Amino acid sequence: MKAAVIFRPGDVKVIDKEIPTPREGEVLIRIYACGVCGTDHSLYVGGFPANFPVVIGHEFAGEVAALGAGVTTLHVGDRVTVDPNRVCHKCDYCRMGKEHLCENRLSMGVEIDGADAEYCVMTESNVYRIPDQMTYEQAAFCEPLACAVHGMDLARVIPGDTVMILGAGGMGNLLTQLAALRGAVNIIVSEPIKKRREMALENGATHVIDPGVQDVDAELRKIRRIGADVVVEAAGNLKLQAQSIYYSRKGGTIVWFGCSPMDKTVPVNSYDINDRELNVLGSFNNQFATARAVELLGSQKVRVENLISHRIPLKDYPAVFDLFGKPDTLKLMVDTA
Ligand SMILES: [Zn+2]
Ligand SMILES: [Zn+2]
Repeated sequence: MKAAVIFRPGDVKVIDKEIPTPREGEVLIRIYACGVCGTDHSLYVGGFPANFPVVIGHEFAGEVAALGAGVTTLHVGDRVTVDPNRVCHKCDYCRMGKEHLCENRLSMGVEIDGADAEYCVMTESNVYRIPDQMTYEQAAFCEPLACAVHGMDLARVIPGDTVMILGAGGMGNLLTQLAALRGAVNIIVSEPIKKRREMALENGATHVIDPGVQDVDAELRKIRRIGADVVVEAAGNLKLQAQSIYYSRKGGTIVWFGCSPMDKTVPVNSYDINDRELNVLGSFNNQFATARAVELLGSQKVRVENLISHRIPLKDYPAVFDLFGKPDTLKLMVDTA
């Protein structure tokens, strides 16, 4: 089979590889679509640790092609998506219901082979059936949407809230839709790229701000004098993370959602956090949110078709890193069919 393998930061190639064999409790999946994530880019630029070499990619959907011994809940031919994080079910975190923080987590495309390939294997309990009407491309959004759902769970957005989202890439647009579904009345999106601001408006933003030419804080205060109830940093940008705490009202919640570089720090004024009683949270992966993501996409409560800016055939995989972050780029989708 063809597979995109990252050998070390900056070195990714499409190679021929053996089709993996599902072991006991695993299924083999024929992959039909795989989205490109900020994490993939972080691996490529050396901002995230991984077990190199590894098949990259973890946001995908396909069809069950073979069953390992003991698999009882899935059948060959089932259309599926996957929570790509394999956990141990044994460590202290798994036992407290925080499986996404598992000490022995093995994530596809990072520690174990991922899904920018024709086939992959995954544990039965990580595999979710998708509705007939859902396309594979839509289903490839289940993983990023599950992460966005988790971010919103942590942020506890309630009806009537003012939510500010910094960055309107693929994740910012999913978060915007979820904030609207949770009843936020003001959803303010700050984003320097015009096309992305337009997309955010299509996806439920009530106000957009261009930080390149507008004073973000002044624009926010025109909409809500005291600041936002919830601020979500969805770009993984250190400057924005530092600014984000000033956009929150007293007692508000700031979620650092974007993938941060592992070796950098952000200057924050601890007096300000204490004095204004701010809740500054990190959001990582997803906690039992995949089934909800499948429901949200299957019911079309969350729309993703307009987020795909480019479709790249698997054989041309390395091109994704030339496109990543460009003004015309939103979600990159790898066609693995
Ligand atoms: Zn992802
Ligand atoms: Zn565990």
